[in-house]
Amino acid sequence: KESPDKEGISRYDQVFRNAVELKNRIEQHEDEALANREFQLYLQPKNRLADGALAGAEALVRWNSPKLGFLPPDSFIPLFEKNGFIVQLDFYMLKRVCQTYPMTVPGTGEALVVSMNFSRVTIMREGFIERLLHVVDSARIPHEAIEVEVTESAFVMDEDAVINKLETLKAMGFRLAMDDFGTGYSSLNLLRKLPIDVLKIDRGFLSENTDPSRSRSVLKGVLDMAGDLGLVTVCEGVETEEQASMLRELGCPVAQGYVFSKPLPEGEFRTRYGL
Ligand code: C2E
Ligand code: CA
Ligand code: CA
Ligand code: CA
Repeated sequence: KESPDKEGISRYDQVFRNAVELKNRIEQHEDEALANREFQLYLQPKNRLADGALAGAEALVRWNSPKLGFLPPDSFIPLFEKNGFIVQLDFYMLKRVCQTYPMTVPGTGEALVVSMNFSRVTIMREGFIERLLHVVDSARIPHEAIEVEVTESAFVMDEDAVINKLETLKAMGFRLAMDDFGTGYSSLNLLRKLPIDVLKIDRGFLSENTDPSRSRSVLKGVLDMAGDLGLVTVCEGVETEEQASMLRELGCPVAQGYVFSKPLPEGEFRTRYGL
């Protein structure tokens, strides 16, 4: 009979073996997946809190693999960042977004701004800016229609180099968003230095595990500061009507979350919003 310790270890071994197995399987299939169009473009709306109007969309990848099943990004993106495949994937997603353009918002006649996640690995890859320009310009898409989302963790190494790339993008007219604000390191210091337009407040700020009045104060502080800096704030992961109305009260202009819609396959998104 095995001791609990041994069982613990063998269970760990099992989990580890499964993880290695999955990693190997994913790596075996990534190129094929790209060729077979197994990576799919999903779009999630961002909505104005005042009236619910569509304010933009975020592009999110899904991997629908006949061999591995339907995989969420968290199960393959960290691996792709390690093996470098993320660069191809991020550019594939950019091309897919370009193919869906223009999406004209009914009533306003304006093009919907689509925000895209670019890994720091992609941003730091040599020729990133040139390649991005090439894709966007050959599709004749105005730079203002693309918003580049970067997470705070992108700055952990080579902070100055990353800032430099973002300044170049900004000067070219692309919009910039700081993603997952409040989860990383030295956020406030970065805000001072970065030429960003949008601050995406992580859904951790809405956590139900914390004292509601304290959460509210922290949120209010962040929203006031962002407002003073002239940034548009988008609160992420808004799931309930109560959260939406609190944010509305605190003056947050835009929200993204299940309370409005889950991320939808690109075609479904367009149908739903008449784009
Ligand atoms: P993210 O950029 O923070 O994206 C928001 C995540 O929150 C998405 O997870 C979205 O489905 C989820 N979400 C939206 N509303 C709600 C809500 O009300 N409640 C909850 N609990 N979650 C909500 P998803 O799609 O699984 O993506 C996970 C992460 O993977 C993204 O986090 C982003 O960092 C990364 N990612 C996704 N697509 C790409 C891509 O094409 N390239 C790169 N480099 N990263 C990507
Ligand atoms: Ca994002
Ligand atoms: Ca986020
Ligand atoms: Ca995230």
